[in-house]
Amino acid sequence: MARIALVTGGSRGIGAAISKALKDAGCSVAATYAGNDEKAAAFTKETGIKTYKWDVADHAACKDGIAQVESDLGPVDILVNNAGITRDAPFHKMTPEQWNEVIGTNLTGVFNMTHNVWAGMRERKFGRIVTISSINGQKGQFAQANYSAAKAGDIGFTKSLAQEGARAGITVNVVAPGYINTEMMSTIPEKVMNEVILPQIPVGRLGEAEEIARCVAFLASDEAGFITGSTLSANGGQYMQ
Ligand code: NDP
Repeated sequence: MARIALVTGGSRGIGAAISKALKDAGCSVAATYAGNDEKAAAFTKETGIKTYKWDVADHAACKDGIAQVESDLGPVDILVNNAGITRDAPFHKMTPEQWNEVIGTNLTGVFNMTHNVWAGMRERKFGRIVTISSINGQKGQFAQANYSAAKAGDIGFTKSLAQEGARAGITVNVVAPGYINTEMMSTIPEKVMNEVILPQIPVGRLGEAEEIARCVAFLASDEAGFITGSTLSANGGQYMQ
C-alpha cells in the first residue's frame, strides 16, 4: 500500500507501533509528537521515520504541520489520530485545567487534525481516518470523566464524519483498545494492576501495542473500503458491546 500516512503521537507507545506497521505495509509515514524530543530522535534513528513536533490541540499548528508533512512526503491519504493524554481525578477533585487539557488533546485534537486533511481527501476521492479511542470511552471509568467524555466524543465524531465522507471515498473508523502495555500504564500501581485490572481481562494479560497497530493497518488499507463508522474493540474480552 504505497500511501502517505500521518500518525499523531506516532513516536512512542501505541503510536510508534502504528507508524512501524504502516511503514511495513508500504506507506511513507510521518509521525508527530508533543515535546519528547529525545524519544522522537531515538524513534527516527531506529526506524527512519521522520518526526514532527506540534500540539494537536492547536488548530493553526496542525494546519502548518500538515502543510510541512505534505511538502515533504505528498498529500496525506491516511490520518491516524492516536495522540492522547490522561489527567485522572475523581470528579469532585477534577480541575477545569484537567478537563480542558484532556478534551483539548483527545477530542479537539482529533477535530483539528481531521479538519486540516479533510478537503484534500475529498478532492482526491480517497482517505482513511482512524482514531484511537478507548474502552473507557465505551463504558466510562472512575476518575476519568474527562478522558471518557473525550474518547466517547471521538466515537460520535467518527460516526458523523463516516456519513459525510462515504461518497468521497473516505472511511472514518475507531479502534478502541483496552489496557495496553505502554508507558501510560506505568502510572498504575502494581497492586492495582494485579488485583484490580488483570482479573477484569478474560484473556488474562494486557494487550500489546502491535496488536492495536494491526487493527489500524487493516482499517487503513485500500481493502477496507466497505468499513466505515465502525468501532473495532481490541480489549481481550474485557468489554463487549
Ligand atoms: P503514550 O503516552 O505512550 O504516547 C502518547 C503520544 O501522544 C506521545 O507521542 C506524545 O508525544 C503524543 N502527544 C500527547 N499529547 C500530545 C499533543 N497535545 N500533541 C501532539 N502529540 C501529543 O500513549 P499510548 O501509546 O499509551 O496511547 C496512545 C493512544 O491510545 C492514546 O490516544 C490513548 O488514549 C489510547 N489508549 C491507550 C491505552 C493504553 O492502555 N495505553 C488504552 C486505550 C486507549 P510526546 O512523546 O512528545 O509526549
